Amino acid sequence: MTPVDRDAGIEFSNAVLQSSLSSPMAALADPDERAREVEARMTDDERFSMLYSLMVRIFGTNARESRVPAHVPDIAGYVQGVPRLGIPPLLLADTSLGLRATHDVNETATALPAGLALGATFDPMLATAAGTLIGKEMRERGFNVALGCGINLVREVRNGRNFEYLSEDPLLSGKLGAGMVSGTQAEGVIALVKHVSLNASETNKFFLDAIIDPAAHRESDLLAFQIAIETGRPGALMGAYNLVNGEYACGNKHLIQDTIKDAMGFEGWVMSDWRAVNSWDYALKGLDQHSGAQLDECEWFNEPLRRAFDEGRIPRKRISEMVQRMLRSYFAVGIDRPSAAEPVDADAHNDVALEIARKGIVLLQNRDAMLPLARTVRRIALIGGFAQVGVLSGSGSSQVRPRGGYTAEIPFRSHPLLGATSMCFFGPSPLAQLRARLPGATIGFDSGAHIADAVALAEKAEVVIVNAIRHEGERFDCPDMTLPYGQDDLIEAVARVNPNVVVVLQTGNPIAMPWRDKVRSIVQAWFPGQAGAQAIAEVLTGEVNPSGRLPVTFPVSVDQTPHPRLPGADVELGTPIQVRYHEGAEVGYRWFAQRGDTPMFAFGHGMSYTDFAYSDFAVSGGDTVTASFTVTNTGPRDGDDVPQLYLTHAAEATRMRLLGFERVWLRAGASVRVSMVADPRLLGCFDATAGRWRIVEGDYRIVLARSAAHHVVDATVRLEHREFGR
Ligand code: BGC
Repeated sequence: MTPVDRDAGIEFSNAVLQSSLSSPMAALADPDERAREVEARMTDDERFSMLYSLMVRIFGTNARESRVPAHVPDIAGYVQGVPRLGIPPLLLADTSLGLRATHDVNETATALPAGLALGATFDPMLATAAGTLIGKEMRERGFNVALGCGINLVREVRNGRNFEYLSEDPLLSGKLGAGMVSGTQAEGVIALVKHVSLNASETNKFFLDAIIDPAAHRESDLLAFQIAIETGRPGALMGAYNLVNGEYACGNKHLIQDTIKDAMGFEGWVMSDWRAVNSWDYALKGLDQHSGAQLDECEWFNEPLRRAFDEGRIPRKRISEMVQRMLRSYFAVGIDRPSAAEPVDADAHNDVALEIARKGIVLLQNRDAMLPLARTVRRIALIGGFAQVGVLSGSGSSQVRPRGGYTAEIPFRSHPLLGATSMCFFGPSPLAQLRARLPGATIGFDSGAHIADAVALAEKAEVVIVNAIRHEGERFDCPDMTLPYGQDDLIEAVARVNPNVVVVLQTGNPIAMPWRDKVRSIVQAWFPGQAGAQAIAEVLTGEVNPSGRLPVTFPVSVDQTPHPRLPGADVELGTPIQVRYHEGAEVGYRWFAQRGDTPMFAFGHGMSYTDFAYSDFAVSGGDTVTASFTVTNTGPRDGDDVPQLYLTHAAEATRMRLLGFERVWLRAGASVRVSMVADPRLLGCFDATAGRWRIVEGDYRIVLARSAAHHVVDATVRLEHREFGR
């Protein structure tokens, strides 16, 4: 944090506080009423000045936007305020995985683990803690709109941006997204969820038309947004780059106006993604704000929109509504009366990052209880993945520079439209963390560059830990599910000379693991954030009992997925393409259930160093499904479990839906009773013509499970016919 920013933030806060306290509007508690009152007092110039944000530094150039005041650092967006009415300027910063302060090397923040790691915690409270942390770091800097989090469902295992998202399931993503939003907004900072909708891959995303059955869309990706909107009440929403059923998402009336606003009742404002607007008339389709306006061919919501208004092509009522939606969120969250910034407690925030990493690491396989590492092990070989340098992170707009900076930054690749990306590592290193925890053992390190060297080290070790990495990021997808740099061959080779191989995966997606039967243990660590090395070492040594559960299905290969060929991979960038999401709402584990197929590792899967038993499963039907059961820790040590409740068969069809989940902590030998009530939308189908949800009367099979594939006990309940809105 630079002092100049902080002073500017405090100065601004004080000025706004004064003006809002002296404003008669301050007395009005209802944000809608206040928004209408304040908007009515604005001039047209003031209204129009709020409808677009400016990027502070233009992509690909070093030029600073001269319309942005000098004290505003190099963040994603800036929107003018109206000081005479106590309306603050907006300072928008990316926050999917922590505050991406600026491109300046001195600007740092808490770098959280990947979104999929948070997804793997199945813990909305931790999502709230992450949101609170983001809110506090934003507030300290005087920033007031957090551009996170990304809750697009994981539909495509090669999507370079999946690491930033939370899961493949609408309930899980919706609940965690809501947690993050409410944590941030409780700090007086507006938060959003993004990108509505179907931005499921990066390849050719500006020219990709996502075709989906509208009802299936409501039952999947849009349900995630709906749950996040209803529960978290985000002040804003961000549109996606791609088209949805023939119209660009940000100018898609059916999507934004009819569905998000009218059908779901979203009260905040919808902003575009950066470089996602092609016409002023997106304002007629429901878009309220043009983001990073200079990046597009034209600043559409600046002069062109004003001209359209002067010529009577857009009604005054709509312009007022756009402004009112923004003001409503300003007042509801309170960015017009920011409390004085408090210094961030960096240690406490590191603890949050650590806790997410600990609970998000998934123990996928553990043959012969290879892990935790036995205290008697004396010779360990640690191989590959720059384990002597740090842990890997994903790149793009969610990339956060941790305090102390990166331990390594390696230019990776460049996108023709969006510029260069780097592969960045966070310290401390897994090697240092393991050595600190295992003082009695000798831990030899080999980079893995030459297989022969790695094999020579592996031969002499009792246990081999291969640290395998795959950099992923915004702007590009992975061509397949392999590990790069010959790491698959490396693992095969060391497994040939040593039976005790543990593979730690730092990846942002499932990978194929052709060697999985030849190694003992596999640990999915995702991109584990600034405290990731500690969490990995704690899980390997048993200081922490692993408890993450997969938030995405790990298929054996892309041939098992709905789209064996990566959409857009075979065309030139810029060629319009259509992707038919023929799987509709049957995303991830739902797809596998429909096909009766078995993945490599199922959604919800994750092992522990203890055991849990489920008993006294009681389920009732009627209006919805209500279930309760007892979880007992029957193993030798304390630990967390995540029991899951699924629908597997609905009255008229095979239909799999996650209905509920809960993370429970249990001492060895202890029990807890857990209850869950299903959101009825997960039991029924959406009727796009009627715009209503429908549950067909009949028998529904409900299972209590350890994962989507490991069902422990089932029951059949009768549900009544039911139709309902929203
Ligand atoms: C990303 C958004 C991000 C925005 C601003 C875009 O490229 O898609 O998620 O918020 O940039 O940095």
